[in-house]
Amino acid sequence: MVILLENFKGLRLRFHHIVCLQGFVGYGYSDSFTRNLQSVVEKIADGYTNRILKLTFSPDEVCMLCPNLIDGMCKMEEKIIRLDKAVYRVLKKSCFWKGLKTLYRPGDVFRAVNRNSLVISRVVCRGCRWQDVCAWFKMNRVKAITNCHVVGGELIRC
Ligand code: SF4
Repeated sequence: MVILLENFKGLRLRFHHIVCLQGFVGYGYSDSFTRNLQSVVEKIADGYTNRILKLTFSPDEVCMLCPNLIDGMCKMEEKIIRLDKAVYRVLKKSCFWKGLKTLYRPGDVFRAVNRNSLVISRVVCRGCRWQDVCAWFKMNRVKAITNCHVVGGELIRC
C-alpha cells in the first residue's frame, strides 16, 4: 500500500537496514547504538502493518546514535551506499514499487526483500561483520524464505 508523503509520521530507513533490522538480536557498534536499534525494531514489530516507512540512501533513524556517523555522514558511506543500492535494485524490480518519493508499509517492504533473500544475502551480507549473530542471515543460509520475515530474531508470517 502506498501513502502520501505529506502525512508522514513513520520511520526513515536506509534500504539495506530493511535486512539488518530483521536479523537484529541485540548486537551493535555501541550500547547507545544497540538501544536505539532495539527501539526501532520494537516500533516496527509493534505495529508493522500500520506504521509507514520512507526508504532512503542517507542516514536514518538507525544511524542516529551510531559511532560511525560523523557530521551527519556515515564514515563507511562509500561501502554502505553500495549495500543500499543492491536492496534498492531488488525492490525496484518488485511489483509493489511505486518510486523513491513514496511511503511504504513495512510488511510490503519486508515481503519484497524476503522474496529475494538468497540474492540479497549473497550480495548485501557478503563480508558483513555481523553474519555470525544475524538471525536473518543464518535463516537464509539454511533455507530460502519466500513468505515470512524476522524482526528481532522472531519469525513473523506475512
Ligand atoms: S552510520 Fe553507517 S555504520 Fe552506522 S548504522 Fe548508519 S549505515 Fe550503519
